[in-house]
Amino acid sequence: MTDATMPPDLLYAAERAKGFMPPAEGLALFEVACAYGSRGPICEIGTYCGKSAIYLGAAARHTGSVVVTVDHHRGSEEIQPGWAHHDPTLVDPRFGKMDSLPVFRCTIAAAGLEDEVIAVVGRSEQVAALWNTPLAMLFIDGGHAEEPARADYEGWAPHVMPGGVLAVHDVFERPQDGGQAPYRVYRRALDSGAFREIRHEGSLRVLERVGPGIG
Ligand code: SAH
Ligand code: MG
Repeated sequence: MTDATMPPDLLYAAERAKGFMPPAEGLALFEVACAYGSRGPICEIGTYCGKSAIYLGAAARHTGSVVVTVDHHRGSEEIQPGWAHHDPTLVDPRFGKMDSLPVFRCTIAAAGLEDEVIAVVGRSEQVAALWNTPLAMLFIDGGHAEEPARADYEGWAPHVMPGGVLAVHDVFERPQDGGQAPYRVYRRALDSGAFREIRHEGSLRVLERVGPGIG
């Protein structure tokens, strides 16, 4: 696909960043973004603390592209207090709400990727409604409940340029391995006939856009 390798300082930064991106899947993201990034911008839905944004940002630097990463930074349903992946250090006591934005900012600044990674703070569906730029790569890793996952697909997948890629995280074929909403997004993209699968690494699926009709 490409022989690009992550610079060691960025690899180190990515691996120690807080978040939900196993190294092998992060490297796959980096490689895919390196292969497609020269065609246009990369968009990520679901920034959290910037872990995956480092892999994508490294590829943006390599290809002269840019990463736009969208998150309201208030946490998905499945990372709120009481849920397994909740991190109490990310709660802002002034509002009694999660806030991953300060950690994200620190992570990206420390990695030296402030010129490559642009944060958009807001609800994905609101931002999608304003979006009009063809994307070389779309990475969907936002809310994993049925409704937000569906809205991310419907709002953003039409912006993937022909020949561009859609990557979906946390795709589990078997319900016993994890929630099914990202899997349904993946199936829907494939079944639309507009995408074909080009890479599979852990729970990361990468599809290339081959046709116009995204259903
Ligand atoms: N990519 C990250 C993990 C993302 S976790 C990593 O590498 O670690 C999912 C993120 O999606 C959370 O930060 C949550 O705030 C965000 N999110 C969930 N639903 C959203 C929505 N409707 N709009 C914007 N962001 C959303
Ligand atoms: Mg994920």
